[in-house]
Amino acid sequence: MNVDILIVGAGIAGITLARRYAEEQNAEVLIVERRSHIGGYCFDYFDHNGICIHKFGPHIFRTNVAEVYQFLSRFTDWYDYQHKVLSYVGGNFYPMPINLDTVVKFSGGQYDSDTVLSYFDKIKTHPNDINNVKDVVESQVGPVFYELFFKNYTKKQWGIDAEKLPPSIISRIPIRNNRDDRYFTAQYQGIPANGYAVMMQKMLDHPKIHYLLNTDFKNIADNFRYDKMFYSGSIDEYYDYCFGKLPYRCVSFKIEEYDTEFYQPVAVVNYPNDYDYTRITEFKHFFPYSASIGRKTVIAKEFSNFEGDPSYPIPLQKNLDLYRKYRNIDAKKNVVFIGRLGTYQYYSMDQIVQNILSMRL
Ligand code: UDP
Repeated sequence: MNVDILIVGAGIAGITLARRYAEEQNAEVLIVERRSHIGGYCFDYFDHNGICIHKFGPHIFRTNVAEVYQFLSRFTDWYDYQHKVLSYVGGNFYPMPINLDTVVKFSGGQYDSDTVLSYFDKIKTHPNDINNVKDVVESQVGPVFYELFFKNYTKKQWGIDAEKLPPSIISRIPIRNNRDDRYFTAQYQGIPANGYAVMMQKMLDHPKIHYLLNTDFKNIADNFRYDKMFYSGSIDEYYDYCFGKLPYRCVSFKIEEYDTEFYQPVAVVNYPNDYDYTRITEFKHFFPYSASIGRKTVIAKEFSNFEGDPSYPIPLQKNLDLYRKYRNIDAKKNVVFIGRLGTYQYYSMDQIVQNILSMRL
């Protein structure tokens, strides 16, 4: 079969790109996907209770880029969800990111948004350089908050000490002197009204887009002729690990069902110090109609490890150097690497869509 464009991977990168090629270039596009479903790590499904489960962990869409929001809004309505996260420390729940309420509850002091800044000034450290996650946190809120809220969570999530991880990993988490307890403050935020999989199915719904599930690209590569290929799998796998494996952090989930209305106060609770899971997601919080489900709820306990499907690229210099080595292979000129795995970048959904929308076709 002849196609104009072959895309490996039916995640948000591959699907967004397929839609652009089909609409803007009238190109014949084929996507091949190894898994049995579309959507990549954004995949979700409605379980027998009618609860929408994010199979690969909590996905909350947010962006400040109107173009990204408008593009996806062609394929879905949104539930205007504002994401809330609590951190479970010493037997209590605290707002995360750290805000005025976190500090008041944790310290027992009576602060307001001015005096809490003086308190931060007293407790923060003054490292010469900000070289790692520990420096970022301690230079804002000092060693005690770092130890209890960030040190062990980071180690659990990445399997690497916070002192060895670059500032970029934590730069998305602010410290606030107000009572704002939203996890994200982007201008546009929400959950697709019928879930991510339905939204992405609509993106694929175009006469020029074809896709094959349960299909390993390596098994079919010779059966198709194409002008250009885009590859959103991991780049080291594409090159048969010829320079060795690129490290990725992997996540796994233990789904549990309870006969209760809600299991926890918000959608996500982080467990920096207790238990071997990093966080618990309770999916009912993501959708307004969940209230009608009554005394049933589903949670996912999330574990991080080094085995399983690659999920988070680990931005250590030696890994980035190895990635560069792969990128420098004189690949066939008609292969382009895209997405979180193809570019070895810790991107969120909106960044991926933005990257694809800004590509010159
Ligand atoms: N982090 C932390 N404690 C928390 C939440 C986050 O130490 O309670 C750190 C941790 O290093 C994590 C990073 O901040 O990897 C980014 O967190 P985020 O919630 O954005 O991670 P994601 O949702 O992408 O897994």
